Amino acid sequence: MSYSPEIFEAAEKELEKRRLHSEMDLEKRRSILFARSPRAEEIERMIARTSVAAAKAIFSGADRREKLEALRDQNLALQNELNGIIKSFDFPENYLELWHKCSKCRDYGNIDGKMCSCMKSLLRQISYDRLNSISPLSLSTFDSFSLDYYEKTPMKDSKYSPNEIMSRVFTFCRRYTRTFSQSSRSLLFQGAPGLGKTHLSLAIASELIESGFGVIYASAPALLTKLNKESFDYERSSDEGSTEQLIADCDLLIIDDLGTEFSTRFSVSTLYNIINTRMIASKPIIISTNLNIAELQEKYNARIISRIIGSLDRVEFVGTDIRQQKRRGKKPKAAGTASTEML
Ligand SMILES: [Zn+2]
Repeated sequence: MSYSPEIFEAAEKELEKRRLHSEMDLEKRRSILFARSPRAEEIERMIARTSVAAAKAIFSGADRREKLEALRDQNLALQNELNGIIKSFDFPENYLELWHKCSKCRDYGNIDGKMCSCMKSLLRQISYDRLNSISPLSLSTFDSFSLDYYEKTPMKDSKYSPNEIMSRVFTFCRRYTRTFSQSSRSLLFQGAPGLGKTHLSLAIASELIESGFGVIYASAPALLTKLNKESFDYERSSDEGSTEQLIADCDLLIIDDLGTEFSTRFSVSTLYNIINTRMIASKPIIISTNLNIAELQEKYNARIISRIIGSLDRVEFVGTDIRQQKRRGKKPKAAGTASTEML
């Protein structure tokens, strides 16, 4: 177990927030109930009083037992009456109890000194969020993707237009996301800059994160810089919670902009290891790159290329650079779908 202290601290803070939230939530429910039934509030006060009286009775003299029994009966009757009131409003039985997000550990993160599963997933989630925080996931969605930037005239040597091809790519990505599982295929998004690769990768990432999958999205340069930095930290580099472990474990790993990283022996062997580890574990990966196969071959060794070509399904992006079109002032025809800033 070796998440960094900052991650632990963030998780503890989140648990504290959850506990506070359930207390405030209970307060809110109590005031709703008491506004509708002043008797309920009165009963609650009386129950509190019988508890105090019971505590005192323990130290009383000979009639201690009778006193305690009477108080217990009284308490029970009050409790029953209160339950009846709660039921009469169709509220759940545990209406006046704290509602925890995790009932196993009551949002304390551990049970008998052992870490609760909710804490484990919280630590993991925070680590994912930290890794993903460099990319504005929420800005690029399927809804904000516009096909209007892609020409409708057939391309050279093809009977299809960029618009038709990209419409198929778009539908494919949507279906991929909707039917995603840990055994989904791995993909290679290929095409010139500014054709929507980043936008659609981010759309896939944010929709899957929304559905609860563990997704890591990172550009190749950012990811390799981070891994390089961690590789000097021998204690952490391959433990649970390290970037290396997270990218091996996550449900989907998306590496954007492959080929723009500074090429070193470290970066090449690290990339190979990442891809290889995921392939061996049959875990999907999406790589996007501006480079064509010949350019990839020039930049990487044969081992990586055979892994990429052999294991990833190629998805080709076509058209005219959308960023340039926007710079020239072209606007998509459809209103309200123009947010393609991330392309
Ligand atoms: Zn828990």
